[in-house]
Amino acid sequence: MSLRRFNELRGEEVAYAVDRQDRTFLPAQEHCPLDPTRPGGPATEIPFPAFEIVVFDNLFPSFEAPQGAAEVVVYTDDHHGSFAGLEPARAQALMWVWRQRYEELGARPDVEYVLIFENRGVEVGTTLHHPHGQIYAFPLVPPVAGLELAADARLGGCAPCALLARELADGERVIHSNADVVAYVPFAARWPYETHVVMREHRASLAECAAEELASLAEALQAVTRGFDRLFERPFPYVMVVHQAPTDGARAGHLHVEFYPPLRTATKLKYLAGCEQGAGTFIMDVLPEDSAVALREAIAFDSQPSRAGHGVAL
Ligand SMILES: [Zn+2]
Ligand SMILES: [Zn+2]
Ligand SMILES: [Zn+2]
Repeated sequence: MSLRRFNELRGEEVAYAVDRQDRTFLPAQEHCPLDPTRPGGPATEIPFPAFEIVVFDNLFPSFEAPQGAAEVVVYTDDHHGSFAGLEPARAQALMWVWRQRYEELGARPDVEYVLIFENRGVEVGTTLHHPHGQIYAFPLVPPVAGLELAADARLGGCAPCALLARELADGERVIHSNADVVAYVPFAARWPYETHVVMREHRASLAECAAEELASLAEALQAVTRGFDRLFERPFPYVMVVHQAPTDGARAGHLHVEFYPPLRTATKLKYLAGCEQGAGTFIMDVLPEDSAVALREAIAFDSQPSRAGHGVAL
């Protein structure tokens, strides 16, 4: 069961999903609910002996009909895989799955915004190690989407278009690019290795992308996440969010993917403490330009021809 309350002092909604405290927490593989149901084995959430990509309703939804939805997207039946390590064809297929869910959920009258995301690593609260992401269909346009729409108004046009042009002109923080997509550490990053992956052309959502653009997006996202894993030679925790146009019918937006990694060194986390929580101002101890150098090297190392197709063993 989920319910919402309006927090007057902050001017924002808070969602309560009170049954979630009992959900499965970091099970061993033999109890993994996202593994396939193998012949003779215990039943999992997925009643097939093998699969490529599966989407199903979250058993512990933060939003549910008729006021939104919460879904789970399982990337692979390989318990020990990762988004970074998916076969390129599978990563491309995932872009099409995301697109289909955005279109179908976004078409519902109770859904004003679709957030596709992945929480990777216990550092960001993952409760299942099996490679998967989630989709929340919101019955409202949430505050972060609202901030980006306000940035459009402030910049007098599409903010991601304007900011991408600045990053390309500067070049110092660009860490990877291909024909359709550019990845950079933003000028005023709030996390040490924050990375934005942005479509070169103005595309409001995945639904507006050509097939080649979706393939380019998958390539860039995998290059970035493989670089993350390479950076400290360890599985790199992150929050990955896909930002697209709200689906309330009226507003702008520009497809991009943001990563908020919590690590500031191989072993130290960036915590949101007094200044960040109490004042809303992020204090950073590393400049985005320096993060970009490290990430660019990590991505380039992993992209060398001799290593192509390897990914990182996790
Ligand atoms: Zn599993
Ligand atoms: Zn744009
Ligand atoms: Zn964004």
